[in-house]
Amino acid sequence: MKPFAPLFLLSVATACGGLMIPQSDTLTQRLYTEPSIDIRTPAFDGREGFSTLSDVEAFLRTYQPASGVPYRVDHLGQSQKGQRIPMAYLGSEDPEAVRIWVMSGLHGDEPGGWEAVMHLMNRLQEPAFRTWLSKVRIALLPMANPDGCNALTRLASNGLDLNRDQTKLLAPETMLWKTAFNAFQPEVALDLHEYRPYRKDYGRLGTQGMAGYHDVLFLYSGNLNVPTELRDYTRNRFVAGAGRTMDSLKLSHRAYFTSEEVKGRLVINQGSVQARSSASHHSLTNCVSTLIEVRGVGLGKTAFKRRVLSSSSVALSYIGEAARRPEELRAVLNRTRQAAPEVVVHSVRPERETRITMIDLAKNDTVGVLLPVRDASQSTPKLVRQRPEAYVLRQATPALREKLKALGIVFSEVRASRILQAESYTVVSVAPDAFNWEGVRPIELETRVETVQLELGTPATEANPDLILSMDQRNAPLLAELLEPEAPNSFVRLGLIPAVLNQALPIYRIKP
Ligand SMILES: [Zn+2]
Repeated sequence: MKPFAPLFLLSVATACGGLMIPQSDTLTQRLYTEPSIDIRTPAFDGREGFSTLSDVEAFLRTYQPASGVPYRVDHLGQSQKGQRIPMAYLGSEDPEAVRIWVMSGLHGDEPGGWEAVMHLMNRLQEPAFRTWLSKVRIALLPMANPDGCNALTRLASNGLDLNRDQTKLLAPETMLWKTAFNAFQPEVALDLHEYRPYRKDYGRLGTQGMAGYHDVLFLYSGNLNVPTELRDYTRNRFVAGAGRTMDSLKLSHRAYFTSEEVKGRLVINQGSVQARSSASHHSLTNCVSTLIEVRGVGLGKTAFKRRVLSSSSVALSYIGEAARRPEELRAVLNRTRQAAPEVVVHSVRPERETRITMIDLAKNDTVGVLLPVRDASQSTPKLVRQRPEAYVLRQATPALREKLKALGIVFSEVRASRILQAESYTVVSVAPDAFNWEGVRPIELETRVETVQLELGTPATEANPDLILSMDQRNAPLLAELLEPEAPNSFVRLGLIPAVLNQALPIYRIKP
């Protein structure tokens, strides 16, 4: 590993100040030429900046769908700064229509996302695509984090990263859009992002540092509680189809990766297993899910047309796949809803040297680099438990019940006394992490599982009732991620349910 090169330090210094452009014109002209197309969305009206919330609001309000296509604008509620969060529903109202969710703007410094949602809506007016709208219904959420989007900052007003908030739900925006997501029950979900090609970690590669190359990175889940067939189908049908579309447009693409420094060495993490962010979270709700990252953060408006074309073309490809093959999609989702015999509490990913195409800043051109890659799609289980028939959550506070509802988890409250045989979790080791993270202090823990007699519905539980949460429900894989105590994004690991050494947790398992 080489120390950071001086040129690179300069790039980072300017890039951190806002949406500065660290990329040379030579490189942009060589590798990122703009497509010769006309995009009729607000950011292309000749202005210097990007579309604001009021631009998006006006676009949705004045949008004219193709003749006869149902269209409706709605608002989720208010952001932390009191701004209404608009969303729209486009396409067939037939209950049999395939439900597709397209969102962007979870990170406010990724403006290609919401521009792409608007461009997608324009493209869906074209005769070649509008026939699809008789087969599908699309929920469109262009600015999930409107405060961040208006300020062009990644985080929400309270400093939280909304793509790390999807199991703990500490931001009001997360509660709102998760509620809308689970009410809609998407069968296909896309989350549009942009990535930062000039990363501090890449500064140590080559002689003058390197930069991310690909126009589009596809992030699909490697979480082992997502059935294998659903993971394979997502990759082989939807990601592969969008990849062919990218090839036809001469846009480069590969599986998503990001870098991490582990004990002084650069490691590449490819894919995701984490339920806290959307790619895996959505997959855990029996849904074809992909997050896409387009090369854009820190580039200002460089190649903005190309970026908007990239995201909207991926979305169009996903909509087309779903509209052409609704029976195939439904058959896969029905099969993958069947109960798996086990839940995977946590998993590990192998590390393997892999060649990744990067941009060598010394050459201003692409180069293949061998890097240690930890691939989520090759994960293997590390801790596995038998799938329970149901979980029990004792004395659930109103806050926990609200979170479960927003996450689309169905439960019943135990109002009369009853005795059950169940498995308890006794905490045998517990330690807080060294640092606060995203509004919580996560913990590490181990538990011992043993069979006990459990009395539910006692008078002490009137205000905070005991809950029974059946695993026979659509979001069962997500439920296991929330309640298995040692799962990386569980309510216990994230400190929402306290863990005390040598005491039983308020979570129980009912065996099949
Ligand atoms: Zn993002």
